[in-house]
Parts: sequence; C-alpha cells; structure tokens
Amino acid sequence: MGSVVISIDAELGWGFHRRDLPQERLESARVGWKRLAGLCSEYGIPATWAIVGHLFLSNCDTRHADHPRGPEWFRCEQEEWADRPSLRYGPHLIADVFDDPVAHEIGCHTFSHVSFGRPETTAATARSEIKRCLAAVPWTELSLRSFVFPDNAVGHRDILAEYGFECYRGPGPGSPTRFEKVTAATVGMPQPNLVTPSIDEYGLVNVPASLNLFSFEGRAKRLVTRLFEDPIVERARRGIDAAANGDGVFHMWLHPSDFIGRPEIARLRTVFEYLDSRRQDLRIETMGAVAKRVRDERGPSPASEPRSID
Ligand SMILES: [Zn+2]
Ligand SMILES: [Zn+2]
Repeated sequence: MGSVVISIDAELGWGFHRRDLPQERLESARVGWKRLAGLCSEYGIPATWAIVGHLFLSNCDTRHADHPRGPEWFRCEQEEWADRPSLRYGPHLIADVFDDPVAHEIGCHTFSHVSFGRPETTAATARSEIKRCLAAVPWTELSLRSFVFPDNAVGHRDILAEYGFECYRGPGPGSPTRFEKVTAATVGMPQPNLVTPSIDEYGLVNVPASLNLFSFEGRAKRLVTRLFEDPIVERARRGIDAAANGDGVFHMWLHPSDFIGRPEIARLRTVFEYLDSRRQDLRIETMGAVAKRVRDERGPSPASEPRSID
C-alpha cells in the first residue's frame, strides 16, 4: 500500500514580494487559503501546510533591520503593502488550520521567503530565517518538523537538521516539458511520478515532489482543456492509482493563491473526490508522518539533537 501526500506553500503576499507575478494570484492568496482549507475539511484530507513564518506575526516594525538582508528586503511592507496587513500577517488563518480536526501538519517555508538554494543566500541568512520562523510560532504545542524550500531550491540542509527539522520536499524526478504538456492529451500521459523518500546525510527525510497541481497553466492549458479533459486531473488520478497499487509516495503540491476562480476549485475538488474514493486502498499522510514512518522503518538516524533557537 502506497501513500498520497499533499503539501501547501502557504505564503499570502510573501511569495510575491520582490518579483513580478500576476496580480490576480496575489489577490487570490487569502480567499484561496480559505477555499483550500475548506476543501480539505470537506473531504477529510490532511495536508502539510508549509507556512512563511512572518505570517505567524500580528504586527512588526516593517524594517527588520537586524535581518541579514536588511530593511530593503522588506521594502514591500514599508511601501505598497503598508496598508495591506492581510498580505503580511495571517495568525488567525494559521490557527484555523492548526485547530482543524482533519489533523493538518504545520511546517515551515522560511520566515520571509528567502530562496535557500541561491548562491547569495549565506548560512547566516538561512539560519536567521529559520530562527525567526521558529521564534514567531505562538503555540508551545507546535513544533515545526517539515520544511518546504522557496522556489523548491534546496540548500543549507545541515542548518535544517540543526534546528530539529526532520524532512523536506525535494525536487521531483522531472516535470514534463512544454511539448509533453501540449501533446499529453492526445498521445498519452507521462507515467505518474511515484517517489521514494530517502534519508540524507544529515538524517533528514527527503519527500520528493511528484506533481504541481497548478503547473500546467497559460495558453497551452486553455487550448487543450477546451477540447479534452483536464490533463492535470488525469495525471493526479494516475498517480493516486499508482499509490494504491504500489508502495511509493505520490506527492502533490500547490499554493493557496492558485485558487483564482471556479476552474481551479473544480480541479482540486475532482482530485479530492477521486482520492476520497480510493482511500481504503492507500494512506493519506502528511510529510511529517512519512518522515516518521521512514525513520521508524530504517532504525535510528544520525541526526543530532536540535539546537535551541537562541
Ligand atoms: Zn514585517
Ligand atoms: Zn513559496
């Protein structure tokens, strides 16, 4: 019996600062969060919500002068988002997810969406991002154990291990090319990406990604979905079937800001309906649950004791 994992990059505005992304996605971030949480509750599907740590806050000085990147990194808080706290903070949204009876996992997506895999991100910056995120958590009963790298750019895994993280979402075994995306509906779909979690040299469990549920966007998508069934739904169904029939993990991921309108909601509802229909044949697990299972199966890991955050 295999597993299905869903991880969510929960950012509100923080995936959008200092980069040029579609405004409609930014404006969908908060309502999309609630829609996504609602669908998870409706179908009883737990997910790993990887939260940008700044969202735990209720207020800040907007400058973060002692952050290694300095106030310039937080310029959006001082300028275009100065009167938009709903993009910068989200403690009540997080609390609703944390309290949901569906038993979601709360994970970490850094403090301010610094990309750990970039060469300019020093160890000091990565350490600062993790320490600030851990310090922002307001509930003593919540320990962050799962990590999702911004931009899926893996880096500074040794520092994750230092601070008690147990797993991360690694890059998948390859996403389809643009040509494959366009032709998939007519000449057959690529094989679903079942993944096998592994323990790295720091004792962290890598739970690689299988499918971005909203990667297939733009003109090509509109072209084929007008004529054929949604190819992402088909890929998700195949992955769920593969997990039900095998031993691997099918790991889907998405952003709350993907929920721009009805087609996006309909896509996830269709995937969740199918997952729900097959739940007797597979496990629906969080990243943390996968990591615990993999560690238990393989015996004690070489991970060091977590450091305190100060
Ligand atoms: Zn701030
Ligand atoms: Zn992100």
